[in-house]
Amino acid sequence: MSLKIYNTLTRQKEDFKPLQANKAGIYVCGVTVYDYCHLGHARTYTSADIIIRYLRWRGYEVNHVRNITDIDDKIIKRSKENGEKYEELTERFIKAMNEDFDALNLTKPDHEPRATDYVGDMIKLIEMIIANKHAYIGANGDVYFDVRSFPGYGCLSHHNIEELESGARVDVSEAKRDPLDFVLWKLAKPGEPEWDSPWGKGRPGWHIECSAMSMDLLGAHFDLHGGGRDLIFPHHENEIAQSRAATKQPFANTWVHGGFLQIDKEKMSKSLGNFITIRDALKEHSPEALRYLLLASHYRSPLVYADDALRQAQQSLTRFYTAMRFLSEAPRAENTEFEKKFIEAMDDDFNTPIALSILFDLAHEIQRLREKDTNAAAAHASLLKYLGDVMGILQQDTEAFFKQGVDVDVSKIESLIAARQKARAEKNWSEADRVRKELAEMAIVIEDTATGTTWKKG
Ligand code: AMP
Ligand code: ZN
Repeated sequence: MSLKIYNTLTRQKEDFKPLQANKAGIYVCGVTVYDYCHLGHARTYTSADIIIRYLRWRGYEVNHVRNITDIDDKIIKRSKENGEKYEELTERFIKAMNEDFDALNLTKPDHEPRATDYVGDMIKLIEMIIANKHAYIGANGDVYFDVRSFPGYGCLSHHNIEELESGARVDVSEAKRDPLDFVLWKLAKPGEPEWDSPWGKGRPGWHIECSAMSMDLLGAHFDLHGGGRDLIFPHHENEIAQSRAATKQPFANTWVHGGFLQIDKEKMSKSLGNFITIRDALKEHSPEALRYLLLASHYRSPLVYADDALRQAQQSLTRFYTAMRFLSEAPRAENTEFEKKFIEAMDDDFNTPIALSILFDLAHEIQRLREKDTNAAAAHASLLKYLGDVMGILQQDTEAFFKQGVDVDVSKIESLIAARQKARAEKNWSEADRVRKELAEMAIVIEDTATGTTWKKG
């Protein structure tokens, strides 16, 4: 069995063949940090997280790089509006991003380079591109990439250069030679952040940052590069052109792009203002339910967000935790059809919806076994938890899961349960009943089991 990944470059699923055996270098374009992260970000980075978790689980030694874009036009604009230094703005939102991503249980990248720490590398790359005659200094002093000089342009987005040309806006005031050319270095306007360069004080264009950071941390030629599908053109197309123009080597082998999270049929985005931040969503829903919702669609399909879908996700989780409840820890069931089918699904371009349906079959099997063979049920419950971990779900203690979202005083509930147990031990049935009613009024349902009394929100 081999892992197949859909490659935007070739438009087909391909066997994953890493450059070095059992190693995988992956670069994921990171967030532009001028606002809170929204559910669209949650989707793209949860998809990347699943890919990374699965590669590791399959035995690959993964080097995961996710950059931080901490300088760009939107950052400069927002810092001016706020009357705040751009470094202070980005620091605030990097901190918020880390809090949100931790809440989502995203695996930490092995490297998290910031664009502003890589300006020197970007300048070197631009010098190489100019030396190789793929870039020029425009009439306004900015440095541009010469798109027509690079024969492979359009290979990723499958655009033909003539089509692109006819769609491009021709602006007479532009200092570039061709409307398709893109900026590598722009001279600073008064009051803007600036760095010294051979072309004068200024700052890098957006695209060049990812080429510099990925090549430094993964080498000029590496395995996987990903992001949301809006990055295919122009960002990733430009990354390929400028990287290959600089090094004359191949760049990333496999390009992985995720579908949008949509709301009201539109892409959720900061610029459209239709976004729900991760932190707002997590005020009402559990991070595990959000992750479940994201996993329930394939990473390449569009996903329409609805609050109701999150409630359903929580119900699906309840079914899983119910299957695992009240079973003691046991060594996990091995060589099962469930695990085989789970691997088949995930090997097929990380097909998480199918993988989840197999986990549902497994949950069903646990319920069936529970009646006749508790040991076998417990062994299958361990398998469910083990496979859930590959997807970053089902790791809570089952009792903790049933108590989550409880807006009542937990210690009060526990002491009422203790009082009821005492009353029962003393055969004071009327007192035991009174306490049960008091708990029921708090919408707490108690269950007496062989191992003691448990409770959950009714
Ligand atoms: P940005 O912060 O806009 O630079 O985007 C960072 C990453 O989030 C990119 O990979 C985008 O493709 C991705 N992204 C932004 N909005 C969405 C969305 N609505 N759905 C999925 N991914 C998104
Ligand atoms: Zn990028």
